[in-house]
Amino acid sequence: MRALTAEQRAADLEAMARGGVDVLVIGGGITGAGIALDAALRGYRVGLVERDDFASGTSGWSTKLIHGGIRYLPQGDVPLVREALIERGRLLANAPHLAHPLAFVLPLYTMSRRPVGLPVAPPWGVGLSAILDMGLSLYDTLAGRANVAHHRRISRDEVIRRAPCLLPNGLTRGFLYADGQTDDTRLTLAIVRSAADVGALVANHASVTGFEQSGDRLIAARVRLNAPGEGSRELVIPAAHIVNATGVFAERVEALTGATPLLDIQPSKGAHLVLRRDALAMTNDAVVLPETADGRIIFVVPWRSRVIVGTTDTGGGDLDRPVANDDDVRYLLDHLNRSVRRPLARDEIVSTYAGYRPLLRLRHARTPSRLSRTHAIVESASGLISISGGKLTTYRIMAQEVVDRIDARDGSRRPCLTKKWPIAGAAGWPAALPGLRARAARLGLPFETVVHLGDSYGSLASDVLDRIEADPALAAPLDPDLPATLAEVEYAVSVEQAFTVADVLERRLRLSIEAADHGLAAAPLVADHLTRRLGWDDALRSAQIAAYAATAAMHGAGLDEPLAAGA
Ligand SMILES: Cc1cc2nc3c(=O)[nH]c(=O)nc-3n(C[C@H](O)[C@H](O)[C@H](O)COP(=O)(O)OP(=O)(O)OC[C@H]3O[C@@H](n4cnc5c(N)ncnc54)[C@H](O)[C@@H]3O)c2cc1C
Repeated sequence: MRALTAEQRAADLEAMARGGVDVLVIGGGITGAGIALDAALRGYRVGLVERDDFASGTSGWSTKLIHGGIRYLPQGDVPLVREALIERGRLLANAPHLAHPLAFVLPLYTMSRRPVGLPVAPPWGVGLSAILDMGLSLYDTLAGRANVAHHRRISRDEVIRRAPCLLPNGLTRGFLYADGQTDDTRLTLAIVRSAADVGALVANHASVTGFEQSGDRLIAARVRLNAPGEGSRELVIPAAHIVNATGVFAERVEALTGATPLLDIQPSKGAHLVLRRDALAMTNDAVVLPETADGRIIFVVPWRSRVIVGTTDTGGGDLDRPVANDDDVRYLLDHLNRSVRRPLARDEIVSTYAGYRPLLRLRHARTPSRLSRTHAIVESASGLISISGGKLTTYRIMAQEVVDRIDARDGSRRPCLTKKWPIAGAAGWPAALPGLRARAARLGLPFETVVHLGDSYGSLASDVLDRIEADPALAAPLDPDLPATLAEVEYAVSVEQAFTVADVLERRLRLSIEAADHGLAAAPLVADHLTRRLGWDDALRSAQIAAYAATAAMHGAGLDEPLAAGA
């Protein structure tokens, strides 16, 4: 695979500016990455520029589910659910190292009335079980041949066995259904790497600040480079087609054309808590908590060494600095504690995180549309194509729709190839797993490290092992409680275009939310490594460690104050 080194990024940027591109994609979240991959596979010369780091926006702060969206069924959004279920199946097949099936326990209590957001509560809960059974049968049917596993009713005892954290009082029975789970930043990064491997030119820390026009058409984008030590250099990248895939920022980027944006984005924040698995006595099954007072669904999901609890849905806040605030923590913890056997104290929360979903309305639509949770694609008079909304799960079909539009503009009919395209690390996976295990054992690596490497890199994990074989000191863990190794820091900077301490610890290794200290102890070690590889001076090294401390603080946000009495 093409290694995304610092030198390669510089060469890619130079090539974009000198030769121009057919398609310039703005935004390195999962949507932009998917578009870059699809367009490059169809033979377009593609450039992808990301303001901060790949997956540093919403794509890094999801619940990490690859799902049809069970809660959209009661709202009658059947086509939306079907599309997501089909895409779920494709992603599980195309990225088996990064997307895997996950069982969900849906408990029923005597007081359950509107689980999974049923719009109408059956009187006294009569017939609720039959309604859920029908809904879950529809969910299975809509997934077609790619269904993960058929749902089934489970007894009270089985609910307790699979979800021992749940309060047993009033528990009557439950359902077990299947969806999928991923690691959102690693998935996004793998798609970026896949795009680069088929020729896309890619650069993070490269922000679009404006456009150049000829007549009323956009012909180029102005891009400011902002990797540490790069000194805010600006480039102009000529492009035949420019795609704005900047998620919640899409309205801002549209406004850079000087025209009134077509997208009207209402950001809605979703916050999560990260807990230790043993704090909740979790098995490997996820749990759908009983309905909240405001009709939301809250998932409790085992993820890596931790458990994720989320999410919320509130307006307001700083889009550039999404944090779970005190109210978010209180809301999630209160609801969790109403549903579990052993209530959790605030100081048992390992970390928090939050992201913004773009709720969309279209300006200039013939009929004013309601705020939508699906995606929208709009084309401005200047030719800018903007896409926003959707889900991680549906990134591929969204990308296909965008590139189909470009094809239609060009009058070409290049077939989309992403339906069965293996994402970086998928080739030869999981067949490579036994070999990987044997090699890791010869190198003296613990079992958890092998599991972690396989789940993070798939068949490319052998590249990480190559580094450990060459220098056994790189087998050292970055955190005593977690399997991530120093070799992965080396890999991140040599192959995965990491430029900052946060690029490594927040996006590529996830210590910012997984480690009890948010990765603070590892930060100087990572900074030393980046200093050697990227030629930083002492001042830059210190500034980077300080910047990482601010990042880490975002994941302890909302945890400082004790809950008020009675909360
Ligand atoms: C709380 C929450 C939970 C979710 N859970 C799930 C889930 O479990 N499963 C699921 O399928 N979906 C989930 N989603 C939805 C999913 O996360 C998003 O649909 C998806 O990540 C959006 O990706 P994106 O690429 O469109 O946007 P983003 O990931 O936000 O990417 C946009 C990128 O554009 C960059 N950018 C902005 N301005 C510029 C500029 N001027 N120049 C260059 N780059 C720029 C940003 O830095 C950013 O990286 C969740 C969303 C939220 C908010």
